[in-house]
Amino acid sequence: MSFPLFLLAAAAVAVWLGSLYAHPFGACPRCRGHGHITRGKPKAGRKPKPPKVTSCPRCKGAARRQRPGSRTLHQLARRVSRELARQRKQRQAAPSRAED
Ligand SMILES: [Zn+2]
Repeated sequence: MSFPLFLLAAAAVAVWLGSLYAHPFGACPRCRGHGHITRGKPKAGRKPKPPKVTSCPRCKGAARRQRPGSRTLHQLARRVSRELARQRKQRQAAPSRAED
């Protein structure tokens, strides 16, 4: 096979970054996206007690968590767009400066 492997890897990374940008939040791994966890399994032979349901301590009931790297990616995108807007504004503010 002559297809370069690094192109495939680059495409995979691009797809991953795109999904990270479009979906910065994923399901909480602790409660598996339920927002609450059930503590205490009923023991055999004993009178069944109602299981204790508490809100997830990791996501605090939000049932989702920020995926690692998504914050950095969005900060980078915001910084790039802000820099581009700043350059555009600078060019519009002083158009005669570019001639001399
Ligand atoms: Zn959770």
